[in-house]
Amino acid sequence: QKCLSLIKKTKFLNAYITVSEEVALKQAEESEKRYKNGQSLGDLDGIPIAVKDNFSTSGIETTCASNMLKGYVPPYNATVVQKLLDQGALLMGKTNLDEFAMGSGSTDGVFGPVKNPWSYSKQYREKRKQNPHSGSGDSDWLITGGSSGGSAAAVSAFTCYAALGSDTGGSTRNPAAHCGLVGFKPSYGLVSRHGLIPLVNSMDVPGILTRYVDDAAVVLGVLAGHDPKDSTTVPINKPLVLSSLEDVSKLCIGIPKEYLVPELSSEIQSLWSRAADLFESEGAKVIEVSLPHTSYSIVCYHVLCTSEVASNMARFDGLQYGHRCDIDVSTEAMYAATRREGFNDVVRGRILSGNFFLLKENYENYFVKAQKVRRLIANDFVNAFNSGVDVLLTPTTLSEAVPYLEFIKEDNRTRSAQDDIFTQAVNMAGLPAVNIPIALSNQGLPIGLQFIGRAFCDQQLLTVAKWFE
Ligand code: GLN
Repeated sequence: QKCLSLIKKTKFLNAYITVSEEVALKQAEESEKRYKNGQSLGDLDGIPIAVKDNFSTSGIETTCASNMLKGYVPPYNATVVQKLLDQGALLMGKTNLDEFAMGSGSTDGVFGPVKNPWSYSKQYREKRKQNPHSGSGDSDWLITGGSSGGSAAAVSAFTCYAALGSDTGGSTRNPAAHCGLVGFKPSYGLVSRHGLIPLVNSMDVPGILTRYVDDAAVVLGVLAGHDPKDSTTVPINKPLVLSSLEDVSKLCIGIPKEYLVPELSSEIQSLWSRAADLFESEGAKVIEVSLPHTSYSIVCYHVLCTSEVASNMARFDGLQYGHRCDIDVSTEAMYAATRREGFNDVVRGRILSGNFFLLKENYENYFVKAQKVRRLIANDFVNAFNSGVDVLLTPTTLSEAVPYLEFIKEDNRTRSAQDDIFTQAVNMAGLPAVNIPIALSNQGLPIGLQFIGRAFCDQQLLTVAKWFE
């Protein structure tokens, strides 16, 4: 009830696309009954959880924040959603995002942008007043980052205790950093993608947003494991248990030197080095490592992402799935008009780029080459870990959350690509990574750092993150 009333109070944040009030209340009632009857409880019994609107939810509209899927009510639950429900979680609703999870701002969905709850903090408002250039009134608010900005705002505004995001290039970690949350991207293959409407199948992973590392670990424990409906998932033989790390003296932390880029805010840079100093002063070994192919990473991600997008989006043709326009002069005209009406320009732009890279004459030069570069990028991480590093410590974002009006001023797509600078390589390598909030900036806004772990060492990664938290 308390969370539902907060959802209503914070409606202006635009965090939710659909609020599943009836479902949540019915689940709460059942949960309470189980508790009162002394029945055994699930790991998430009675816990309010929100789900990004690109996960299929049986009987609840699933839109991907796109005209193309408005009104679509899936007949089944994504595996991760089913697992949450099986453990007693209460489904509060479906959260807002960039259309089809393409973006880094949560500003590009058909239901409008998500507002960052930190825009309204006392400290930030005070600082903002002192700035003569700041906007005013209704337009003066900060983006959440994205694309899982609705999930981040929902947790940050206390409307739920955890939320599912998706992470293809940083979409869970980026909004977590901007909203002061833990944002965890598990290893590729640890958590099922069945029912997650795909962006880039070879990189998509369901992500977890919470306030504390422990909470993320509990949710991961519920979600992880082989799913016969997702052939890329692997079985886990031990339950995930998070222990407390007493001592970091056996730990080796790697600092990738290529991540020190000129665009990084000086505040984040100094917090990054203070965090490294903290590990060192507690006895950990901190070493500089090199990930030499980092500078190719964003373009490589772009070629692979758009190519998979072009192929994935082909299903939305007005016949098999989604919206259909009224034009019926020819099948081709119907396809074209349907897709023009259904997709925003970001999605259409990516479909065009992807199809260009996949043209017969370009395929070898772009797509195949990008796949080779992807292997080199993944190998950079393997080499760093083989040199004895346990986890890498990096920034998550270039800066703190920026005001909406500033974010949309520049060419949004170029800017978005830059925002993924520290996050997308991890997706290409399939590694686990987590954003941990570290401090408030001078402006009073959250700043986070990223830990990256070895593939399938998610538990070790979260243990280190918990020590640091
Ligand atoms: N910003 C990235 C993109 O637009 C990441 C998206 C994501 O992780 N879903 O592709």
